[in-house]
Amino acid sequence: METKILKMNPFDIDFKKINIAAEIIKLGGLVVFPTETVYGLGANALNENAVKSIYKAKGRPSDNPLIMHFDKLEKIKDFVYISENLYEKIKVFIPGPITFVLKRKNIVPNIITANMDTVAVRIPIHPIANKLIEMSGVPIAAPSANLSGKPSPTIAEHVVEDMKGRVDIIIDGGNVDFGLESTVIDLTEDIPTILRPGPITPENLKEVFGEIKIPEFIYGKGKVDTAKAPGMKYRHYAPDKKTILVEYSENRIDIIKKIIKNYKNPLLVLFEEDKKYFNGYDIITSGNKNDYYKIAVNLFSILRTADKTNNDVIIIEGVKDKGLGISIMNRLRKASSEIWGE
Ligand code: AMP
Ligand code: MG
Repeated sequence: METKILKMNPFDIDFKKINIAAEIIKLGGLVVFPTETVYGLGANALNENAVKSIYKAKGRPSDNPLIMHFDKLEKIKDFVYISENLYEKIKVFIPGPITFVLKRKNIVPNIITANMDTVAVRIPIHPIANKLIEMSGVPIAAPSANLSGKPSPTIAEHVVEDMKGRVDIIIDGGNVDFGLESTVIDLTEDIPTILRPGPITPENLKEVFGEIKIPEFIYGKGKVDTAKAPGMKYRHYAPDKKTILVEYSENRIDIIKKIIKNYKNPLLVLFEEDKKYFNGYDIITSGNKNDYYKIAVNLFSILRTADKTNNDVIIIEGVKDKGLGISIMNRLRKASSEIWGE
């Protein structure tokens, strides 16, 4: 398949180009587009064959459901059951990097939901994503635009690496804003439950919903309830190379010094503040140790870069399980083959 690449400035939208992509969606084709979280691989959510081709292009297991993307919140009402009370609450976050799991109506194709009675919906704020959905005139089903298991793409070059020849169009809109996939929150029970931590933090959610649940598996502990959080059982974001995560602690420098003795040629992913302890080693900087926004936005890109070097192992410093740090650590734990704590 020939893949067309359309370059676009998110702050100066080219409607003609978006229209080309929207026509492809209408015809049942595949379009990769930037969002505020990561790049998405989209198809007409109401066209079963188009949705099937998403799974094929990604090599994604079909028991891992997809998120349905809308341009406006009102439109979810045709596809899900939601109380007025809950609708008023979720408005606060819309549009933005958050996905709501709700009871579905029959019109939602089974292929999107992996045959469950719930569906995940999201309204992106990114101008290219939002306009593409609007001009397509249909909801767009879209997972992240990486090959299944690989780190999600945060720049168009990563999309091209994974998806060239597998999709009709790639819209290159430059860098994404957050670099982590949307927060997924299950609203089908009395107390909202986080299924995937993301840019919208537990603190943000508590302000609107009051009480919320954060299951143990979010922190890499306990068992995933795969009936509720189907995609979470898969190892994700993983570099091919051995990847060791060192959890945040006061002793982290000593722990890393101990680990590196076991390897010939390690690559260290370190906070700016910690580089001085490792002169002479190959180092990639993740950001200042408290700058979680920067660490998050660079995270997947760093994992991809680290995988391409000739080092024999990647050793990466973790952040505190706090606020946005919970989302960063969730991805790092899934990406790692080994985890060292205090
Ligand atoms: P991605 O498409 O890579 O952003 O991943 C989407 C994730 O959203 C999936 O892996 C699921 O974990 C989650 N998801 C989608 N639909 C549902 C649903 N109906 N119930 C629970 N989680 C869902
Ligand atoms: Mg993904």
